Amino acid sequence: MSSIFTRIINNEIPCFKIAEDANFFAFLDINPNAKGHTLCIPKKEVDKILDLEEETYMGLMAFSRKVGKAIEEALDCKRVGITVIGLEVPHAHVHLIPLNEMKEATFQSKVKLTTEEFEEIAAKIRAKL
Ligand code: 5GP
Repeated sequence: MSSIFTRIINNEIPCFKIAEDANFFAFLDINPNAKGHTLCIPKKEVDKILDLEEETYMGLMAFSRKVGKAIEEALDCKRVGITVIGLEVPHAHVHLIPLNEMKEATFQSKVKLTTEEFEEIAAKIRAKL
């Protein structure tokens, strides 16, 4: 069965999309550590990030860098943290987290956003790409 992220790419599950190219896709995390918390994924479904082919791994990092720079420009944050975990969803992904405080990097403090807030944040980031 396809991962939840493959179903997002295929438009079977809605998301707040940030960017897409031939090989990669970025969208807002539905349970964010901070406003603008974004996930970047390869379209090819591979569970662990270190199991990606090197070209895909490097491409994912370049794509994440581009999206991360747009987040930094669009939102009020000291910097964008980059994290890889993957314990919940078995489809390689990079977390880009706009950081002002260390707790936002811990995955233990979450923010609740309305649909309108998600849409507004996604539009702000897209405008900087
Ligand atoms: P990890 O696998 O790195 O531990 O965490 C997976 C991340 O994906 C979590 O931060 C979680 O909030 C996010 N996530 C899980 N399911 C969905 C979903 O259906 N849509 C979105 N946008 N994010 C999701």
